[in-house]
Amino acid sequence: MEDEVRNVIIIGSGPAGYTAGLYTARALLEPLMFAGYMSGGQLMLTSDIENFPGYPEGIGGPEMMLQLREQSERFGLEVHDKNVERVDFSEQPFKVWVEGELFLSRSIIICTGAESIWLGAEGEEEQKGRGISTCATCDGAFFRDEEVLVIGGGDSAMEEATFLTRFASKVTIIHRRDVFKASKVMYERALNNPKIEIKTFKTIKKWLSDENGIIGAILQDSRDNSEEEISCTGAFIAIGHKPITKFLENQVETDESGYIIPNIHTMTSVPGIFAAGDVVDTRYRQAITAAGMGCQAAIDTEKWLEDQH
Ligand code: NDP
Repeated sequence: MEDEVRNVIIIGSGPAGYTAGLYTARALLEPLMFAGYMSGGQLMLTSDIENFPGYPEGIGGPEMMLQLREQSERFGLEVHDKNVERVDFSEQPFKVWVEGELFLSRSIIICTGAESIWLGAEGEEEQKGRGISTCATCDGAFFRDEEVLVIGGGDSAMEEATFLTRFASKVTIIHRRDVFKASKVMYERALNNPKIEIKTFKTIKKWLSDENGIIGAILQDSRDNSEEEISCTGAFIAIGHKPITKFLENQVETDESGYIIPNIHTMTSVPGIFAAGDVVDTRYRQAITAAGMGCQAAIDTEKWLEDQH
């Protein structure tokens, strides 16, 4: 156990976390960050970020996260690449357990973001990592000249499908409706790509596999339940995300999906506990909005700490 009581511990290390780290470090609060085993969050799995202002040529997700980390460390953010296991927010100082070690802090900023949702179709669990993935950037290159599926109708699905055409011979987007949540520009980019076919009103009923991994899927039509078989050696599930809040064990108020509900500005239902980024955001979920919220949470934390004196 550390006897020292920190001013602020930041949990999570996407754009929200690093921006909170940058601002609290510059406010001389000597912040400590638990970045997770896979620091950087979801943007570590993104190829090109083209919509973050200030990068006219775009920038790779991992490169941006590295730069954000360097920038906040330059001002004194202390980063540990470890996962928080458990917390106790019932009294001051707040308690945070990390790999069995206890850390104490007057305030906390939660920036743990969100993680991919899986479909849960028959045969999926056994084939994770054997052809079924949630990250085209990570696994796309394994499917050179092969046929792959992308499941979903949002921007993630369009982005993954377009990216996968760099490697795959054919990409089929499987969507359960004929209305797409994806932005028009990304939908049309996919629609106009000659390597991409879009199948609407289809869901995955079952994954088919042999000893080497998946070989296809049974698709079911959501209108009349009719079935058809499609062959593929890879499949990428892009149906959205869920917030990473399980470790909080309901100690701050969340909605029914687990997203943290802000109480006053970025402060949660527990005074002194703040949250920013995708872990609170059910609407925007952009790198730039997460970074903006990280800044807000840092300013709210600084003011709250000042008011405690
Ligand atoms: P979305 O929530 O936008 O889309 C999820 C898609 O998956 C929907 O089409 C949904 O279908 C479908 N879906 C959900 N559950 C199931 C299920 N059980 N079975 C089959 N289909 C399912 O999530 P995204 O991850 O695509 O995007 C999240 C946010 O991130 C958005 O704000 C998006 O704009 C942003 N984003 C931006 C990018 C960029 O600008 N470069 C890239 C990627 C994401 P239905 O429509 O029927 O609900």
